Amino acid sequence: MPRAFPDNVLDAGDVLIVGAGLAGLFAALKLSPRNVTVLASQPIGGGASAWAQGGIAAALGAGDTIEAHIADTVAAGAGLVDEKIARLIATEASDRILDLVELAVPFDRDLEGKLKLGREGAHSHDRIVRVRGDRAGAAVMGALRERVRATPSINIIEGVTAHALGVVEGRVCGIFAPNWREAEKPPLFIRARNVVLATGGAGALYAVTTNPPEALGEGVAMAARAGAVIADPEFIQFHPTAIDVGRDPAPLASEALRGEGAVLVNDQGVRFMEDVHEAADLAPRDILAREVHRQRGEGRKTYLDARAAIGAAFAEKFPTVFAACQAAGIDPGAELIPVAPAAHYHMGGIAIDEWGRSSLDGLWACGEVTSSGAHGANRLASNSLLESVVFAARVAQDINGNDAPNAARAAVFTPRFGHADGLINSKIAQRLRWIMGTHVGVVRSADSLKAAARELAALEAEADASPGAGAAFANMFTAARFIIAGALGRKESRGGHSREDFPKPHETFRKRTFLKLSDVESAGAAQEVVHA
Ligand SMILES: Cc1cc2nc3c(=O)[nH]c(=O)nc-3n(C[C@H](O)[C@H](O)[C@H](O)COP(=O)(O)OP(=O)(O)OC[C@H]3O[C@@H](n4cnc5c(N)ncnc54)[C@H](O)[C@@H]3O)c2cc1C
Repeated sequence: MPRAFPDNVLDAGDVLIVGAGLAGLFAALKLSPRNVTVLASQPIGGGASAWAQGGIAAALGAGDTIEAHIADTVAAGAGLVDEKIARLIATEASDRILDLVELAVPFDRDLEGKLKLGREGAHSHDRIVRVRGDRAGAAVMGALRERVRATPSINIIEGVTAHALGVVEGRVCGIFAPNWREAEKPPLFIRARNVVLATGGAGALYAVTTNPPEALGEGVAMAARAGAVIADPEFIQFHPTAIDVGRDPAPLASEALRGEGAVLVNDQGVRFMEDVHEAADLAPRDILAREVHRQRGEGRKTYLDARAAIGAAFAEKFPTVFAACQAAGIDPGAELIPVAPAAHYHMGGIAIDEWGRSSLDGLWACGEVTSSGAHGANRLASNSLLESVVFAARVAQDINGNDAPNAARAAVFTPRFGHADGLINSKIAQRLRWIMGTHVGVVRSADSLKAAARELAALEAEADASPGAGAAFANMFTAARFIIAGALGRKESRGGHSREDFPKPHETFRKRTFLKLSDVESAGAAQEVVHA
């Protein structure tokens, strides 16, 4: 078992942020001029954040109110939204949008120069700030990337994946990452007084997903392995309209298309949502995803029809979706777009309080890796970018007011590291993703979830015996197990969690799920406590 010796210890100093999507970069900027190191597995400014198409929700329009935004968030969350947190994100939305305007994000404006607001499903008002139709994520991240690179107090380490947290006497004091300078050497321990996880979601644990390949739930697994509480892991949001052209990840046909009047149809030309929900094609995402899933289960093909509603204006109004369709040989203004449900957003994650504090000393978290209670059982469209900026700012404020002790001089345990290169394309990862998609997907049951647990256990034994085994794989298995354990425990259907054997919500389960690693599996598969 490798140990982290002092020459394998790097000092990140004051604050180490893991992840460089919207949550990570916004936190880094809010902490400036304090010294911060941002470490990310991909070039900074990427992640799901850069792919966001819709925009950011904020009650800024005439006639809209913070109370209405809270009410919509609570209604979408199907009984599990923490109203205090919903209030907090809705209230702070306007200040955070102003921050982004100051960072030169070119939000769409009307002729008078006021922010233009779009409508998305389950919002009672026009309240989505956008950039050039569906370019919000790319524009926001472009502006942040530029500012972060120009900020001297922010050090950047790109292309390095964290696989474990270091804990000394109950306080998180750094992370372990492969030794990128000398690959044969034991992992590096990068220590810091304060650690922030902003590693994004877990959609790539599923075979069909809109998420980037690095969204493997590693943040949840790392935190859980270090002892943190994980909340609501069973709640995955499946987007009803991923473009079904065999690409991995699946490109997204944004909800905004349905906002503009595009409709779901099957291969018999039937508009099937009209009989299912009064809001038809603008029904909540979970309802749409289940119906698309049901149609496909009956052998129907499912399509988004934007011909009448958008037609020739498609390329101009939705350039990202247009490009994805064109790449697949589809003209979305004149032809049907094949669509399927895809894992899109993780409502569950590291349990945090209103300041982004996890249950572990020294560890904060923000963005999709968390479960703050803002989304309950089902996230309202465009509330996740909002939650990311609101909590990134709160984490920064909390750390700024926090006089942390010096990080310990040595690591206390080392994880077993393997070769994570090509992880997502490995046979083991592909099999895991298939298991999750097949047994833990849009509709689950006790039988399917137990089958998933059995198949995962067999696969993990295979993975452990393979030469590439290590902390990265172990983290994937851990994150998957949390989702399964939460789903098995929740014997009801609510929001994004749908059980064939318990098809209705039940009052007994009108509460959030909180789990620790010991609730999910026996600890210690990939790390061993070695006191230095
Ligand atoms: C296609 C698509 C469209 C969307 N559209 C919208 C929208 O319009 N509005 C909205 O509100 N939400 C939208 N969402 C959801 C939203 O984009 C995400 O929830 C949000 O961007 C998450 O931000 P984040 O900073 O937490 O994570 P991300 O932006 O995903 O960033 C994660 C970062 O962590 C890094 N990382 C991951 N694991 C590790 C590791 N182990 N070690 C080191 N680094 C690691 C990654 O490299 C990346 O830098 C969309 C999501 C998708 C996939």
